[in-house]
Amino acid sequence: MKLVFATNNSNKLSEIRSLVPDGIEILSLKDINCLEELPETQNTLIGNSLQKAKYISETYGFNCFADDTGLEIDILNGEPGVYSARYAGDECNSEDNIEKVIEKLEGEEDRKAKFRTVIALIIDGKETFFEGACKGRIIKTKSGVEGFGYDPIFTPDGYEITFAEMNKVEKGAISHRGKAVEKLVGFLHR
Ligand code: IMP
Repeated sequence: MKLVFATNNSNKLSEIRSLVPDGIEILSLKDINCLEELPETQNTLIGNSLQKAKYISETYGFNCFADDTGLEIDILNGEPGVYSARYAGDECNSEDNIEKVIEKLEGEEDRKAKFRTVIALIIDGKETFFEGACKGRIIKTKSGVEGFGYDPIFTPDGYEITFAEMNKVEKGAISHRGKAVEKLVGFLHR
């Protein structure tokens, strides 16, 4: 079966490809000649994942799925959450976002956080959602060069290393996205 993964994030694409079994072929947006930015204007993870998946399904006519992920920090009342991509401002990158988190948590003892991913799947117009979460803590300085986004400052529960110090397979076995994909694959194989 072929499914388009509606993302322009090449890190997410290679993570997902490392997680799904051989029988499911993941097509990228480039593979379907979609070279545009996807709309992402909702204020929930469900809303944004559905908006991206719907755009591809309705404009290009492919069965597809999209994910939306947020980093939720307990002491910041769940910030940055759905605004994780633009936490430090519209023109900012992951380095800026990480700096902002480190500053906001300066001197803070409670550093608990979780990543949450929602995947919206659309097959023949039918929408289904899958969620995965991974609890952990925010460390004080960046560590590791693997992964992307907030990975260098997030240490999952039960580990002493960050996501950025794990390879794709190690991260995928315990991550928010890995758990959501496991549910997606279970659904496709039912
Ligand atoms: P989105 O799901 O592409 O909207 O991502 C929101 C923000 O969270 C972006 O800044 C991403 O870099 C970041 N992000 C998404 N997934 C992960 C992850 O698995 N690890 C670290 N950061 C992530």
